[in-house]
Amino acid sequence: MSKSIITDEDRCFFCGGKRQCDHHLLFGMGNRELAEKDGLKVPSCNKCHNLGQIIERIHENPMAEKLSKMLGQAIYEAKIGTRDEFRRRYGKSYL
Ligand SMILES: [Zn+2]
Ligand SMILES: [Zn+2]
Repeated sequence: MSKSIITDEDRCFFCGGKRQCDHHLLFGMGNRELAEKDGLKVPSCNKCHNLGQIIERIHENPMAEKLSKMLGQAIYEAKIGTRDEFRRRYGKSYL
């Protein structure tokens, strides 16, 4: 498993609760695996990840999913590569 390049914290990135899983900032269409390799992930609890009410969680919450992908791309461009490289690797630009 790769290390997060976003945080060293071991608590849920969103609510500070106990870490139960990782959220990959890019996901869908094989992008989760690439985000794993690139360390574009944050610790999460299950509720913030996909088990809470829609408004409280990331997955199937359109605004949170979009912000997640935008943040993933912004961090990729800050720490890893260019926008063109991101687009080639993850299939499109979210910014
Ligand atoms: Zn949480
Ligand atoms: Zn996730």
